[in-house]
Amino acid sequence: MKNPHLLPLLLLSLATPAGLALAAETPPVLGGLDALYPDLDALYRDLHQTPELSNQEAKTSAKLADRLRKLGFEVTTKVGGHGVVAVLRNGPGPTVMLRADMDGLPVQEKTGLPYASKATVKDAAGATTSVMHACGHDVHMTAWMGTATLLAHAKDRWKGTLMLVGQPAEEVAAGARQMLQDGLFKRFPKPTHALALHVNTAPAGTVEYRAGYALAGADSIDITLHGKGGHGAYPHATVDPVVMAARVVLSLQTLISRERHPLEPAVLTVGAIHGGTKNNIIPDDVKLQLTLRWYKPEVRKALLDGIERIVKAEAMASGAPRPPEVTVTEGTPSVYNDPALTQRLVGAVSRVLGEQQLQETDPVMGGEDFAEYGRAGIPAVLLWLGSTEPQRHAQAKAKGQELPSMHSPLFAPDRERTLRTGVTTLTTAALELLDKP
Ligand SMILES: [Zn+2]
Ligand SMILES: [Zn+2]
Repeated sequence: MKNPHLLPLLLLSLATPAGLALAAETPPVLGGLDALYPDLDALYRDLHQTPELSNQEAKTSAKLADRLRKLGFEVTTKVGGHGVVAVLRNGPGPTVMLRADMDGLPVQEKTGLPYASKATVKDAAGATTSVMHACGHDVHMTAWMGTATLLAHAKDRWKGTLMLVGQPAEEVAAGARQMLQDGLFKRFPKPTHALALHVNTAPAGTVEYRAGYALAGADSIDITLHGKGGHGAYPHATVDPVVMAARVVLSLQTLISRERHPLEPAVLTVGAIHGGTKNNIIPDDVKLQLTLRWYKPEVRKALLDGIERIVKAEAMASGAPRPPEVTVTEGTPSVYNDPALTQRLVGAVSRVLGEQQLQETDPVMGGEDFAEYGRAGIPAVLLWLGSTEPQRHAQAKAKGQELPSMHSPLFAPDRERTLRTGVTTLTTAALELLDKP
């Protein structure tokens, strides 16, 4: 990727305050966006000020369901938790699924915006916590609702079935699976294509894409190492699980540095290590918690096998009284953007936004459970929606500064430009896939 963000900036700075100089091929359906925008802006501010945590999205899902019902969608709520499925049948043709995630994060907002979230909720453990749409899921919901509204008002311009999926619990990598297990593709039409947007820190007004693997698969792994506790002054009478854990942590690094093909990315992080109570006591056990990131299922398998092998071997080398426990809590598969579908959508969106507004980007090691829909056999594409105010992006880039990214208490999308680009992108992509009348 050369210098992908400068040209869009120049063009954006010439555009209207709304920030979008649309190309000549604007679909007539998008003509309604200017009139609709104030309503979407109000929806965004409302969602931003009333975030809910994963699997607690009761009010959010009710608001979305209500609006979609009024637009004429057949709406089903409580699908896999607080999931919303809204179907608009408009004659024969493909079924296009648009997914928006609905959950916020336990983050205390520090943007200072007039519509900043002051919300607090009780988390799953009953503790009071601040909550914020720090991952931009409010942007996703608003853009999705904008597209639903424009397409519902222009049923003479397309044929097929539009399926809007409001997904709960993305941040805990559970919601997509919950909805699939609750019959998402059995009780409702099985989509021919699935699309989603996710914000990123690229300049607002731009869209980034990656064909093929785009986001990593993620697993959580819990390890318990068993030793034999005793007095810290008499180590010869113990089997020290702290030393065992230290060896395990170092040996695990060789899975990436020595066993992985250098061109097949993977990450292994030991994020937590718990053991012991006091300076002079050798504990019985030590627990480790790992995250694993990968793209290809065969890489995942090799790493999981390697973790098991190293942990068992280090325990044996230490003379552990019993074998260690290794538990894999499956997170999410990797997001694989169907390459042909990606190219088709990029072509369509670039004819509307302008070619210079779309950039290919690198895959990332973050995860997204949108991956589940692809794994369920639906050709799927997730596009990145730029959200940083363009001047601010340019200044940060010039100074080599990091911008507040998703999950930061300072994450503040450039609201109007981001929302308008989101609606434009999602609507254009849906129209590309739906049949023409
Ligand atoms: Zn997130
Ligand atoms: Zn997110």
